[in-house]
Amino acid sequence: MPIITLPDGTTRSYDTTTSPLQVAQDISEGLANVAIGARVNGELVDLSTPIHEDAELKLVTARKGEKESDPDALMLIRHSCAHIMAEAIQKIRPNIELVYGPALDNGFYYDISFTKEDPLSSDEFEEIEQVMKSIIDEDRPFTRYELTVDEGLAKLEKEGNKYKLDNAKRAIESGSKELTWYATGEKDTNWEDLCRGPHVPSTGRIGAFKIMTIASSYWHGEANSDNLTRVYGTAFVHSKQLKAHLKQLEEAKERDHRTVGKNLGLFHIDEQVGQGLVLWTPNGAVVRQELQNFIAQQLQLQGYSQVFTPHIGKLDLYRMSGHYPYYQDSQYPPLIDPDQLKRLSDEGCSCSELSNMMAHGEIEGYLLKPMNCPHHIRIYASSPHSYRDLPVRLAEFGTVYRWEQSGEIGGLTRVRGFTQDDAHIFCMENQVADEIRGCLELVKIIFATLGMNDYRVRLGLRGPNSDKYVGESSNWDKAEEACREAVASLDVPWTEDTGEAAFYGPKIDFIVNDVIGRPWQLGTIQVDYNLPIRFDLTYIGKDGAKHRPVMIHRAPFGSMERFIGVLIEHFAGAFPTWLAPEQVRVLPISEKTNDYAQEVCDRMHALGIRVSVDKNDERVQAKIRDAANMKIPWQLIVGPRDAEARQVSVRMRGIRHDLGALDLDQFIDALQTEINSRGKESVIEKCFPDVESMQEA
Ligand SMILES: [Zn+2]
Ligand SMILES: [Zn+2]
Repeated sequence: MPIITLPDGTTRSYDTTTSPLQVAQDISEGLANVAIGARVNGELVDLSTPIHEDAELKLVTARKGEKESDPDALMLIRHSCAHIMAEAIQKIRPNIELVYGPALDNGFYYDISFTKEDPLSSDEFEEIEQVMKSIIDEDRPFTRYELTVDEGLAKLEKEGNKYKLDNAKRAIESGSKELTWYATGEKDTNWEDLCRGPHVPSTGRIGAFKIMTIASSYWHGEANSDNLTRVYGTAFVHSKQLKAHLKQLEEAKERDHRTVGKNLGLFHIDEQVGQGLVLWTPNGAVVRQELQNFIAQQLQLQGYSQVFTPHIGKLDLYRMSGHYPYYQDSQYPPLIDPDQLKRLSDEGCSCSELSNMMAHGEIEGYLLKPMNCPHHIRIYASSPHSYRDLPVRLAEFGTVYRWEQSGEIGGLTRVRGFTQDDAHIFCMENQVADEIRGCLELVKIIFATLGMNDYRVRLGLRGPNSDKYVGESSNWDKAEEACREAVASLDVPWTEDTGEAAFYGPKIDFIVNDVIGRPWQLGTIQVDYNLPIRFDLTYIGKDGAKHRPVMIHRAPFGSMERFIGVLIEHFAGAFPTWLAPEQVRVLPISEKTNDYAQEVCDRMHALGIRVSVDKNDERVQAKIRDAANMKIPWQLIVGPRDAEARQVSVRMRGIRHDLGALDLDQFIDALQTEINSRGKESVIEKCFPDVESMQEA
């Protein structure tokens, strides 16, 4: 007599075994029509799965009208679609061997072994998609059947696909008591695959799909193992979603910061210099410097003091902070005093002896700094502090070096040397909330100026396993409450994640969505009880006694490299005027106005505006195109009449026509206002109020 409890708390009783489908039908025929699977006691299962005992049931539905589908529904649809794709490929290419076909966050893949002589080509996608479509049109049921381990293995041995046999053996090793197959249609009649499931009830429930791409992969992901072909596809509840997804991918490709960075000459990564080491070229250096100035200006307003510290520090410093030897896998190897090294090598010291001696502090050396904190701590500790001096806020655009695995390195978002927008605050317990609020305020101002209004905050709190955390529980309670209070006052969406705190204190992460809706994790704010203890930091309290300060690490934008990488994609390279490497380009219509164009340029240049003249012997249309390709915000076209009237014809990036002629002084004045206000006041508003569309073309 199973009693089924639904998510809203209502229950339904059954006399005999039931199923999610049965329950859905009992609620309404409409619900049964959109249900494609279920979670029974939290486990994702087929809609037809028998339920023998009391259970909690949540139906998984796929409704065409929904803007966003249930991730469970997408997972069922995508994995089921992987079966359909495998069947279609096998129909066209009977000699292949299928390996493994899971769902992904954005689609699915199937690893397949093709013969060397006859590899798959993307030219065949259309033909495969046609076959898939006919399988979907036939609306065949996914039929599950089970065999005992022995029967199942015997069947697979007979079929002779070593990959499937291996899958089965692995499943048995991890505890499977039987082996399951899913036939796409009827058992013994239609195509089938060894699979644990679950799937949608029938092929007709796949809304929209597409084969995306092929890549090479290795069996078990091991490079010396069999070479396989990974065929990627994606599927959605309805075609509108698929179209939106494809459009987003297309946009993302156009915005890729590696491509845009190259086209606009923003940065260069050179194999001869080293992987993951960014060379900022002149245009990119302008963006970085402007952004850095902006952040520094805001920090100054908030009472931070700027410091500079060297790129290396003694190993002993990092032994004390705990960064060495514990994190040495993610660090460049230490630099050893050359005389000491020579003496040890003369003595025949082996590499492993050397590294042991370094770890135990028997050899002194230096480390490229993986963090700025120890240096800032030593600045704090270099003079006595009274409670009246606190908080001490030390800021540095500090460059740090980490040894990322080479496979993870790419563009600006994962690098081996980067500059953090770092600062450390040393304060009293009762100042933590205000300091965190200050950090959040800063983030808010900077995101707002950059037009990044879609962001959220994640608050990482202690988990139940309390012995892994440093510091007193009552302090933690206070710090967590301070973080919570500060985050709640920010007026942006936020979540609490239990167990996501660092061992030394609670933390706040920032996740920003760019204009095409992709989330990017930027930096963090972390409260730290650990390092003040390790370095025995103190201040003298009102009572004249020594007290322990709390430390806050904050690098809300992560690193300049990563942040600018995200900004390049956010703006697709079309930076706002104040950030743009080249702000204005003057385009003389012909040689006759070159002198006037130069004069316009010189005047602006003297005022600190980043400007150039295009004196190429080209038609002005070609000059306009070049300037548009470089995403320059303003183009000033000057002909003989402009020269005579001392005016300029203004074009703005993203608008296809001239905005009209303006008196030169008037334009310069408006442009300076726009730059100095970082876009708060615009040339358009001031000079061309009729132009509404400021959309990027
Ligand atoms: Zn399956
Ligand atoms: Zn730090």
